[in-house]
Amino acid sequence: MKNYQPPSFLESVNENFERAAAVSGIPKGLLAQIQTCNSIYQMNFPVKIGNQYKVVTAFRVQHSHHRLPTKGGIRYSIHVNQDEVMALAALMTYKCAIVDVPFGGAKGGVKITPWKYTEEQLERITRRYTTELIRKDFIGPGIDVPAPDYGTGSREMAWILDTYQTFNGGEIDSAGCVTGKPVNQNGIRGRTEATGRGVYYGLVQLLSYADDMKEIGLKTGMAGKTLVIQGLGNVGYYTGKICQEEGDAKIIAVSEYEGAIHSPDGIDVDKLYKFRQKTGSIMGFPGTTNMKSREQALELKCDILIPAALENQITMLNAKKIKAKIIAEAANGPVSADADAYLRDKGVIIVPDMYLNAGGVTVSYFEWLKNLSHMRFGRMEKRFNQNTYTLFAEKLEAMTGKSITAKERRMLTKGADEVDLVRSGLEETMVTAYDQIREILRRKKSVTDLRTAAFLSALNKVSSDYMNKGIFP
Ligand code: GLU
Repeated sequence: MKNYQPPSFLESVNENFERAAAVSGIPKGLLAQIQTCNSIYQMNFPVKIGNQYKVVTAFRVQHSHHRLPTKGGIRYSIHVNQDEVMALAALMTYKCAIVDVPFGGAKGGVKITPWKYTEEQLERITRRYTTELIRKDFIGPGIDVPAPDYGTGSREMAWILDTYQTFNGGEIDSAGCVTGKPVNQNGIRGRTEATGRGVYYGLVQLLSYADDMKEIGLKTGMAGKTLVIQGLGNVGYYTGKICQEEGDAKIIAVSEYEGAIHSPDGIDVDKLYKFRQKTGSIMGFPGTTNMKSREQALELKCDILIPAALENQITMLNAKKIKAKIIAEAANGPVSADADAYLRDKGVIIVPDMYLNAGGVTVSYFEWLKNLSHMRFGRMEKRFNQNTYTLFAEKLEAMTGKSITAKERRMLTKGADEVDLVRSGLEETMVTAYDQIREILRRKKSVTDLRTAAFLSALNKVSSDYMNKGIFP
C-alpha cells in the first residue's frame, strides 16, 4: 500500500463503463461515441478581487448531445480540473438516462475556494463565468442547463439567471436556462432537498426486497437501520434528516471536514446541523463523542455507510477497514473502481451514484418543465380535486351514517400542492429506476452488481437513442 495511488475519478468512471460495455452487446463504435465527451470548454477570465485582478480557470463539459439540452451542476472548488469535470459530466449522462430524464449530461467547474471570497466577489465570478458560457453558446434552456453542485446553491443560480436574462431579453423561456433557483425566482418547491430525498426513496426501495436483504443478513425496511454519514452539506444533511424523520433510521456517526462524532444512541441531524452553523464545527455536539479522525467514522460497524461529500473517499487505502453492509453513494464517485471491486467481492452492496443521487436532476427536470409551462404544478387541478374529494367525503358520511374526523377529512380531501407533486414524481422516478436496474441484475447472468446493472440500463437507453436517430443503424 506504500506506493499505492488510487485511480483518478475519470479512470474509475471509465473502468466501470468498460466493465458494463463488455457485456452490453452494443457495437464498439457506438460505445466509443457514448463514452467520449462531446464538447469541452476551458476558460481563463479576469476578475477584480480587491484592487487586483485574479485569473480564474473554469470549465464546462458537455458529455453527450444525444439529447438536448445537456444538464448538470456547477462546482466551485479549488480541486476542480478538466478530468474531474469530464468524469462528472459523463456520470450526468448515465444518471439522466437511468431516471428517464430526457437530457444529455454536462458539468461545470470553477477552480476557486468559494469561502475565501466575499459574496460580492462570488457574484462577480459567477456573472463572468455565465457571460463566458453565453458567448460560446454553452447555456440556454434548449442548449445546456446548469444547476447547483458542490460549493454552489440557489444564490449562484439566481445570479446565472439574471445574467442570462440580461443578455437575452424577450426570450420567453429564458427562466429554463438554469435550475435549482430560489423558489421566488422561477425555482420549484422541493428542489433543495431533492438529492437527499431521492437517496431516501432509493434506499427504501432497496431495503424493501426481503431476499436481497437476507443475503447480507438484514431485515427489510429503513426503521432501526444504523447509518454513518460522511458530509453534512446539502446532500448529507437532507439524506440524514429524511432517513431519520420519515424512515426512523438511526444515525450513529457523522463525519465532516473538521472531524467526526459518534453516538450509538443516534444523532439528531437537524440539531447537529444547527449546532454546526452556530459553532462552525460538529465537534463537541452534546451526547456524542469526538472520534480520533474523520476517516474513522467510515470504518464503524453499521448497516449503511453514506458517503455524501466528494469523490475517491473509499479507495484501497481504507476499503479493507469498511464494515458497512451497504454503501449508499450519495456523492458522485465516492468509491474508486479498485475499492469497488474489492468490496463487491466481500459481498457489500454498493448502491451506485448514477442511480442513487439522481433525485437532484430529476427535480431539476420538473423545475425546467415548470419554467417552460410558465405555471406552477397543481395550479389547475388542486381546487377541483379538493372539491370533488369533499363531496365524496360528505356522501360517504351520509351513506354510512358515520362521521369522519377532522384529521381524516383533511387528509382525504387534500388537493396536491406543488411540493406534494414534486415528491410524488420523485418517488415514482426512484422506485421505477431501481426496479429496472434490479431486473437487469436478476435476469442477466453476466451482471453481478448494481453499478454494472445501472450502467447497462443507461447504455441501453442512450444507445437506442442513437439508433433511433439513424446515426448507428
Ligand atoms: N449537481 C447535481 C448532480 O450531480 C444536480 C444536477 C442538475 O440538477 O442538473 O446530479
